[in-house]
Amino acid sequence: MHGDPGKILRDHGLQVTAQRLAVLRAVSARPHCMADDVAEDVRAEIGAISRQAVYDALGILAEKGLIRRIQPAGSPALYEDRVGDNHHHLICRICSKTVDVDCAVGETPCLRAADAAGYQIDEAEVIYWGTCPECQAAKGSAGK
Ligand SMILES: [Zn+2]
Ligand SMILES: [Zn+2]
Ligand SMILES: [Zn+2]
Repeated sequence: MHGDPGKILRDHGLQVTAQRLAVLRAVSARPHCMADDVAEDVRAEIGAISRQAVYDALGILAEKGLIRRIQPAGSPALYEDRVGDNHHHLICRICSKTVDVDCAVGETPCLRAADAAGYQIDEAEVIYWGTCPECQAAKGSAGK
């Protein structure tokens, strides 16, 4: 997160609250975190906060475009503060480690669908599933 989080909230027309600030900071500190991780960090920072309040804050921040919500099939949603660049994700099927990967070469080619059917496209959600290097190494040694 670049700049003053309070200003970022105001710039997006959001009221600045301790909870929103803490949620924003938690997401920024831990890219691709789950809501439960965020709740844990927020509690450590500002004390008691309900799970619902954390979900609500994540929801409004995502809705206003301050954070991005990634919803991998069969996993909890992940949140990050790297927004607006249409980057994609690599997710390990074994340990769920998630890393950023830039859009395929060129200027966001995924946003140019072969046939957009008249839709105005602003985001392409691409998740590459596979096995991370650590898990590949662990697999290799387990087989021997
Ligand atoms: Zn892995
Ligand atoms: Zn990302
Ligand atoms: Zn792409």
